[in-house]
Amino acid sequence: MLDLAIIGGGPAGLSAGLYATRGGLKNVVMFEKGEPGGQITGSSEIENYPGQKNPGESGFDFMSTWWKQCSHFGLTHTWANVTGIRKNEDGSFDILLEGDKIEKAKAVIVATGSTPRRAGFKGEDEFFGRGVSTCATCDGFFYKNKEVAVLGGGDTAIEEAIYLSNIASKVYIIHRRDGFRAAPTTVEKARKNEKIEFITNATIKEAYGDKAGLSGLILNTQNGERDLKVPGVFTFVGLNVNNEILRLEDGFFICDVVDGGQVDVDLKMQTNVAGLFAAGDIRKDAPKQVVVAAADGAVAALSALSYIENLH
Ligand SMILES: Cc1cc2nc3c(=O)[nH]c(=O)nc-3n(C[C@H](O)[C@H](O)[C@H](O)COP(=O)(O)OP(=O)(O)OC[C@H]3O[C@@H](n4cnc5c(N)ncnc54)[C@H](O)[C@@H]3O)c2cc1C
Repeated sequence: MLDLAIIGGGPAGLSAGLYATRGGLKNVVMFEKGEPGGQITGSSEIENYPGQKNPGESGFDFMSTWWKQCSHFGLTHTWANVTGIRKNEDGSFDILLEGDKIEKAKAVIVATGSTPRRAGFKGEDEFFGRGVSTCATCDGFFYKNKEVAVLGGGDTAIEEAIYLSNIASKVYIIHRRDGFRAAPTTVEKARKNEKIEFITNATIKEAYGDKAGLSGLILNTQNGERDLKVPGVFTFVGLNVNNEILRLEDGFFICDVVDGGQVDVDLKMQTNVAGLFAAGDIRKDAPKQVVVAAADGAVAALSALSYIENLH
């Protein structure tokens, strides 16, 4: 039986792995369905991690040392898609893996993070991956010297618009309000960028195109409809937490969740189920930042260490 199963290998999961192994646990496995690093590896830049040596480096480069550090202290990575978690009568947990495999663990830290939310306009699903994207680093290059749109008003939207302005000939930022949630310095930087045009008090009514992909967007603006002929639109309108693995057969969750499905934890990242912890974007009131996810992971690991110690 594993001492500790960590599910998810983003900043929260990796930090939990580091603290658990350095804290003396020998048998710690991180179940991650992809490469370790998490969603920040899809970001063009990160510059707000305290003490960062190269502010502005890509999320991928930033995370590239985290797994190496963890494996040095004995964390194991199992490449697996976790489909569920069950608590057994003896207090242990079953970790259900795709392919009908089961691993047993004394304690579990869930750090499955979040996924970009769909904006909900007509044609979004039809053109997703063919003009509609949620990742500027992944898809930005397809729009070299072309015009693109960015939907959203938060930090991620404005930062990614600035990134795209280095590739595209023009970037339209479409935002439903006048004011922005993004940091004022970031908005100011975008406003000074000659390649960026703000279209505020506007929403996307519809995306249109043909077999080749997206050709444009119909916007609802204060002055009526506007036809924006762009082959690419990047949407940054919030995140959904990845909590499906916490769902039981009867549809209820294994532990308490709050509105939106975020996991209810205390300050020790403990859920209401003994031995089950949650960290990072998935927990309630998460600011959805790398520094917080990493801190959560450390707290959850320290709590798991003390939980396991008290089992003996
Ligand atoms: C474009 C973009 C830009 C961003 N910019 C910044 C920034 O500048 N500064 C900042 O602080 N934050 C930024 N963020 C937010 C930051 O990336 C997240 O807050 C942080 O990554 C959350 O870490 P996490 O470990 O909780 O989850 P995640 O990073 O989401 O990691 C979760 C991991 O769990 C894995 N997983 C999920 N489900 C399963 C399963 N069933 N089985 C196995 N593995 C699973 C996923 O593959 C993933 O690797 C940005 C995010 C995006 C998308």
